[in-house]
Amino acid sequence: ATIQVTTWLQAIVERMSPLLEKKNVAVHIDVDPEDLQINADETHMSNVIFNILENAVKYNDKASPLIKITAEVCQDAIRISILDNGEGIPEKYLDRVFEKFFRVPKGSLHDVKGYGLGLSYVKQVVEMHRGTITVRSIAGQETAFVIHLPLN
Ligand code: ATP
Ligand code: MG
Repeated sequence: ATIQVTTWLQAIVERMSPLLEKKNVAVHIDVDPEDLQINADETHMSNVIFNILENAVKYNDKASPLIKITAEVCQDAIRISILDNGEGIPEKYLDRVFEKFFRVPKGSLHDVKGYGLGLSYVKQVVEMHRGTITVRSIAGQETAFVIHLPLN
């Protein structure tokens, strides 16, 4: 179906607002052009954004957690990027985070709960749409997931 990106992203963030408020997370959404549209399976693609945002909140214990979501046209694709200022992912694990059941090993006693399944689902859905997803990160500082979805 055709998705109006601005209202779609706002609705997902709204759906997460209890969690966002609990952890005092600020979310910025920037869509250019503002009336940008994509063609996608709305249920699955909403889950994609939701999973990435959920991680951005879960793996962030900064005093002022911040998430920036941007969507824009990039050649023949729509580029959606989700950047957070959380704990980051050490470089040696970056290429493994999309693996089923993979979680960055933590030495700590009180680990954040999860199955390591969210990002493998995310990647599957993006690839179902003939898109790509990449991740870059600076350990201790930030993580960004970038999705490219072909325009046609
Ligand atoms: P699930 O999503 O199944 O509840 P999960 O969050 O552990 O569990 P994924 O969403 O697949 O699984 O993420 C895999 C791992 O990648 C996480 O356990 C975490 O170590 C790391 N990770 C993912 N997103 C971030 C992020 N934004 N910042 C830091 N680490 C991240
Ligand atoms: Mg997850």
